[in-house]
Amino acid sequence: MRDFSGDHAWLSLNTATVRKQGDLLAITEACARHGIGAISPWRDQVAAVGLEAVKTAVRTHGFKLSGYCRGGMFPADASKLQEARDDNRRAVDEAAALDAACLVLVVGGLQQHSRPGSAVSHDIALARTQVEDGIGELLDYAKAAGMPLAIEPLHPMYAADRSCVNTLGQALDICDRLDPGKTGALGVALDVYHVWWDPDLYAGISRAGLARLLAFHVCDWLVPTRDLLLDRGMMGDGVIEIRRIRQAVEAEGFAGFSEVEIFSELDWWKRPMDEVLTTCIERHKSAV
Ligand code: ZN
Repeated sequence: MRDFSGDHAWLSLNTATVRKQGDLLAITEACARHGIGAISPWRDQVAAVGLEAVKTAVRTHGFKLSGYCRGGMFPADASKLQEARDDNRRAVDEAAALDAACLVLVVGGLQQHSRPGSAVSHDIALARTQVEDGIGELLDYAKAAGMPLAIEPLHPMYAADRSCVNTLGQALDICDRLDPGKTGALGVALDVYHVWWDPDLYAGISRAGLARLLAFHVCDWLVPTRDLLLDRGMMGDGVIEIRRIRQAVEAEGFAGFSEVEIFSELDWWKRPMDEVLTTCIERHKSAV
């Protein structure tokens, strides 16, 4: 297992972590100041400043992209299917333009929440079928672009609105059906926030192996959690055995970035950007 205590060479900043403190160009400047060499930006942040400006910033500072957030939201009724398809292809194109390691997929929940304007459905089995169909179709496009797709299983509390893929095992089943040859084109983004509770987590990490482990995201689970989406904790402030999970991931050969991804309306989004980044670096050394 790699020793992270001495430096933060393997820290990547998911730029949503400081999304309230500045635009993406300000965030990249701050990362450069703090010696952070990798980022994972969100599409809305890129759109706000323009793809070309982001490409220039990435090139100027020599950033690696541990991922690009995000594609997905596949469930849709017939009226929204083309929108979903086009949107996801654009996400692949942007990820490729920025030379991201993978496009992270948050696959979507029930169709009216995944693609607003779709007819109301309570059929989660249908949503899961729509997800698999959507990933299968996008995979051909992504392969042609050379962009790996990383399915991010989300905690079951998001099943209705954000993701009906809720366990690592479920995500790996999809990978095995759509990419049985383990070509590297399809895998998972493992986010400790979503999977830490799963009794099958460590078996799932072994099953995933290096071929499927495309990204590793860290933050912490606070007790109590005050908001379902926007109360993620800084590493070390919650209950997740982050280092144990990283150890398991690295035992499979994973040697990529630990991507810090914290949505924190109640705490970290209120603090100065430099303080947040300094704390991320400290905790990356002590708690990741
Ligand atoms: Zn994540």
